[in-house]
Amino acid sequence: MRLVKLIANLGYGSRKDVAWMFREGRITSPEGEVLYADDKVEHAQIHIDGEPLDPPAGIILMMHKPLGVTCSRKDPGRVVYDLLPPRYRQRSPALSTVGRLDRDTSGMLLITDDGALLHRIISPRANITKVYEATLAQDLSGDEEALFASGTLMLESETTPLLPAKLDVLGPRHARLSITEGRYHQVRRMFAATGNHVETLQRTAIGQLQLQDLPSGEWRQLYANDIARLF
Ligand code: URA
Repeated sequence: MRLVKLIANLGYGSRKDVAWMFREGRITSPEGEVLYADDKVEHAQIHIDGEPLDPPAGIILMMHKPLGVTCSRKDPGRVVYDLLPPRYRQRSPALSTVGRLDRDTSGMLLITDDGALLHRIISPRANITKVYEATLAQDLSGDEEALFASGTLMLESETTPLLPAKLDVLGPRHARLSITEGRYHQVRRMFAATGNHVETLQRTAIGQLQLQDLPSGEWRQLYANDIARLF
């Protein structure tokens, strides 16, 4: 791909803008040597205004989604894409969230421009475990673990029972729930089905990939060793 198109696709501006950036000498090698639009150079050898070029298409990011932001592109309020550098919104192919978290759920959110990878992760066939920690309005009754594991729990207005899920009790009103499906508001509705109410909800892991100490609102790029932990 020609450099102008490649850089424009990363959201740095229109092709016209990028052509101007070349003319202004803003696009250089890491050592500061001015590059030209016709040059043949590796991605890693391109700097803009002294900074390395953003990663090429095919990225996957892990974000610690804070409370109060939504995963919808159309939401007029604050959305997860606002937490990325503004030019990431202009990338082509576009970035999408891998599934969604509710506005009131925090924790691990994956964002990618790789449609095949996205489908591989969300495909029911992949059977990937999503791990949530919930705090509850009322004490657990003690019956939840068996009910969630039974594979018979039917959520309101649904026609098929939930697949078995694993509950680990962490305290009287605190639990870890591992599920392999991604039904609408699934965790909140599962606890609602037991007469309880989820007060706080955080996704802490997908597959073996842990959120760990990534601070709220921050994100990092994932690499092959991280992606391998998903499957
Ligand atoms: N289950 C929920 O209820 N909400 C989420 O955001 C994710 C899973």
